[in-house]
Amino acid sequence: MNFKNSEKLYKKGLINLVGAVNSPVRAFSSVGGNPLFIKKAKGSKIIDVDGNEYLDLVLSYGPMIIGHRHKKVQKGVAKALKNGYSFGASTENEIRLAKMVCDAFPEMDKVRFVNSGTEAVISGVRLARAFTGKDKIIKFSGCYHGHQDSLLVAAGSGLATLSIPGSKGVPEEAVKNTLIAEYNNLESIKKHFHEHSDIAAVIIEPICGNMGVVIPQHNFLKELKDFLKIKGALLIADEVMTGFRSKFGGAQEVLGVTADITCLGKVIGGGFPVGAYGARNEIMEQVAPLGGMYQAGTLSGNPIAMAGGIATLTELKKQNPYHKFEKIGNEIETILLETAHKYKVDLSVNRFGSMLNPFFTKAKVTNFEQAQTSDTDKFAVFFWEMIRNGVFLPPSQFEAWFLSSAISARDIKKLTIAVDKAMKAVSKM
Ligand SMILES: *Cc1c(COP(=O)(O)O)cnc(C)c1O
Repeated sequence: MNFKNSEKLYKKGLINLVGAVNSPVRAFSSVGGNPLFIKKAKGSKIIDVDGNEYLDLVLSYGPMIIGHRHKKVQKGVAKALKNGYSFGASTENEIRLAKMVCDAFPEMDKVRFVNSGTEAVISGVRLARAFTGKDKIIKFSGCYHGHQDSLLVAAGSGLATLSIPGSKGVPEEAVKNTLIAEYNNLESIKKHFHEHSDIAAVIIEPICGNMGVVIPQHNFLKELKDFLKIKGALLIADEVMTGFRSKFGGAQEVLGVTADITCLGKVIGGGFPVGAYGARNEIMEQVAPLGGMYQAGTLSGNPIAMAGGIATLTELKKQNPYHKFEKIGNEIETILLETAHKYKVDLSVNRFGSMLNPFFTKAKVTNFEQAQTSDTDKFAVFFWEMIRNGVFLPPSQFEAWFLSSAISARDIKKLTIAVDKAMKAVSKM
């Protein structure tokens, strides 16, 4: 396997792009070497510019849940392209996608479409403040909620991978209303409420995927919701990653907990730029033009992106692959653990349905501090051996791997062989 064309493009890319990437998580800083440049993808596979073919477990960091270039999505998008790209006025498809989303999340009466997960969360947080008239927001260490100033503290994967504690360029003023709590620790929430009276909301990834996969333990989420209800503060579920992935109705459907405000992204656009935030009528009526909270977007509800989202969600609902995800996810988890055992490598695997990842540590990982006990040098060796054996993973210990419904028994076979070689390489370090 060679990477000559990727190397060439990387050098060329460095001239006019920052680090040759448009999102830092795509850089290979923590695993070494150059980022791969992709030529195309189909189904469960992705092909780089040197013609190397990989089983894709990145899936654009989640959106490609039914695999790349699904026929139905291509057809839906092609049809929309014929009518125009953007109008600055409403289209019927926006109503169709809105109904699909509100049906999937029963707590949501209304939804507003935006263009990314970051935008969805910016707006969701503004809405919580508008509705409660309070300013403070609690976030959990290790959770990522997009790159808005006020939430770029203790923000998980991207920053952790690059060993950046917080972002430069964020004024102290911008984070003075942000409080940090520990995932899976209700006491750390209670403490803040004891000390502050002006807390609008707690924002959480109901299943966290941005410090690696971390799962709420016991009844953590339910207890959190009950506590917030008593305190009159809102729960914002950042389901940008888990929405339509954990289940069609997101992590909330699986865990049986409903949030006051839900933020969506990734799968909802099926690879096109779509984000959304929604809530019950009483809350959404704060948003302009119905209410005094301003939020707007020239390309929001873009007709091509709406068509991509509708086709993806329609096909996803029809396939209902969640049982398959559970089965295959469990299979991969077992392969990782058994191979680690065979080569005497310390490994702990977290998984929730189609999101999983191994941590190179003995510790059971239930929060960011434990995730950080992972041996990232081991991950780097593992990562490159997986690449050489045809499996494309996110280039970071702190990112989740994703499954698509296009994954086949042959793909799993390929993965099994790759994991064996990679774990063996790690054991020789
Ligand atoms: C990816 C992600 C975001 C940001 O979405 P973008 O589309 O990258 O702006 C926000 N929250 C969570 C939980 C995410 O996984």
